[in-house]
Amino acid sequence: MSTKKGSILVVEDEEKIARVLELELEYEGYSVTKVIDGLEALRAYRTGSWDLILLDVMLPGLSGIELLRRIRKNDLHTPVILLTAKSSVEDKVSGLDLGANDYITKPFQIEELLARIRAALRMKKVEQPQNENGDLLRFADLSIDQKSREVIRAGEPIELTPREFDLLVYLMVHKRQVLSRDQILDAVWGYDFFGDTNVVDVYIRYVRKKIDLPHLPSLIHTVRGIGYVMKDAK
Ligand code: CA
Repeated sequence: MSTKKGSILVVEDEEKIARVLELELEYEGYSVTKVIDGLEALRAYRTGSWDLILLDVMLPGLSGIELLRRIRKNDLHTPVILLTAKSSVEDKVSGLDLGANDYITKPFQIEELLARIRAALRMKKVEQPQNENGDLLRFADLSIDQKSREVIRAGEPIELTPREFDLLVYLMVHKRQVLSRDQILDAVWGYDFFGDTNVVDVYIRYVRKKIDLPHLPSLIHTVRGIGYVMKDAK
């Protein structure tokens, strides 16, 4: 997936635009994956490793704004450039408020977009001089590499499903904060989830089973009547 210049996730439902973006970006030396639907984009985002995301705002499945909101819950680093309609000032404002790095208005000149992509990638490098460190979460003897999706506890690699992984990342990012079941459900499952918060308890149990090994102190604690917190046993 990685190339000399970086991998870009292109989320755009207008086929013609998506195709042009793909051709131009690949010509520039980026590796490109394009998806045409918001939910598909969320899956691609969670299962891939991206240097930058080009995100159309008006999408079927899940809007670009909602997608951005979910990305920024756990990931403040991956640059996101929004593709917005000319008329939609509101989208630009809420996009920037939610942590988009930049936006470009359709129709755009490809040269301008390329310049903005280069700028966003440069900025990312400045903010993360040691690229891997921004993707590495550590707590006690537990570490998670968000890029390679490796989870290690006390030197032992741990296999998690994608959902378990997202849940653990959310707990790690908000370590020492008590999180309600609703908060966790909203962050990890999102608004499109229909069901009750029991699913949180079920997945916490799965993750605990894998993370809190019998000979190690537990890191995920129940806060009765509220939810869960990741903290040291001490
Ligand atoms: Ca669109």
